[in-house]
Amino acid sequence: MKSPSEQSSPDRSATPALDSAIVLDHSRLAWQAEGARFNAFGKSLRRRHGGRIQRVSIDAGFTCPNVDGAVTTGGCNFCDNRSFSPSRRVRLQRVADQLSEQIGRVQKRYNDVRGYIAYFQPATNTYAPIEQLREIFDLALHSDDRIVGLAVGTRPDCVPDSVLDLLQELAVDHDVSLEFGMQTVHDESLEWMNRAHTHADMINAIDRSRGRGFECCSHIILGVPREDHAMMMESAVEIGRLGFDAIKLHNLYSVRGTPLGEEVLAGKIQMMKREDYVRTVVDFLERIPPEVIVERVSGDAPPNYLIEPKWCADKQNIRREIEAEFDRRDSRQGDHFVPPEVPPMQRPRPDDATPESIRNRIDTRGRLPVLKMQ
Ligand code: SF4
Repeated sequence: MKSPSEQSSPDRSATPALDSAIVLDHSRLAWQAEGARFNAFGKSLRRRHGGRIQRVSIDAGFTCPNVDGAVTTGGCNFCDNRSFSPSRRVRLQRVADQLSEQIGRVQKRYNDVRGYIAYFQPATNTYAPIEQLREIFDLALHSDDRIVGLAVGTRPDCVPDSVLDLLQELAVDHDVSLEFGMQTVHDESLEWMNRAHTHADMINAIDRSRGRGFECCSHIILGVPREDHAMMMESAVEIGRLGFDAIKLHNLYSVRGTPLGEEVLAGKIQMMKREDYVRTVVDFLERIPPEVIVERVSGDAPPNYLIEPKWCADKQNIRREIEAEFDRRDSRQGDHFVPPEVPPMQRPRPDDATPESIRNRIDTRGRLPVLKMQ
């Protein structure tokens, strides 16, 4: 998932499988020279690795402190967390088998893949005893010579310093990306989502993560009820203020079996309209720094789960419409970015504010029996 920001990434020339092939991106604004409207992820990876890099998604069997009661129960209102129950996870394949199966599938589709990034995607992928995290990340990195890195999805309140130290160590030789579910800067929206963390948790996490040699990526949701345009733009400004390396933008969408899905089916909540979303994404990208890598510009779900909005299944055209809106305005990512008074790299590193209930799960001995180890 990660293309560490060219600003904070270590020299990747030591990456084992591809050392002779890596082409480092010496220009932070190479995408502009190519005439693009924004700093798209796929091309950024190609520039850095000299060829196509594909992510392969892994469900390692993690759960979430927002589901198991460490911070609350029930999970986020948009998340289908029923699939996190141990009984369902027992049926998951081992990590190495998931990787080899998916790599085989990607190879059938593309014949020019130079490397893969193992993407720990569902649930909270830093929520396990630290030695077991090391074991499972090592397993993914060494299960195939073509794996060049890791992407790890997590929550802002689930990265104690021990986890950041581990990722920093792994990032010396590999691409490592830490994906935070920031979602919004507005605590009332986080509360509406039942996130059970605040934006202050996000600030604490990024201020301890920045500058460690791995990429920090922020997931943002646009179209949260009661967030107007100005509020969404406040989230955009925060990307530059806090110094994220990358972002993933999602429209709020609802799927079956979730509290949000039930409210949408009952007609209590309206999803954002397609044209509004396209314009808002462009407004958002105009306000973030030009060097931030844009990993995603919309979100979707499998058709049999997706309730609303149906338009988000049309991903390729949504992206084309976003590019067309940039063309219409003749603008680019970063055109309205205002650098913060305190540059992110000068922000002080705070004490670790990870809640004790989460730290007890991570900074402890023991193992999560449901994780899909060898
Ligand atoms: S924090 Fe992530 S994994 Fe946990 S319930 Fe929310 S969306 Fe799902």
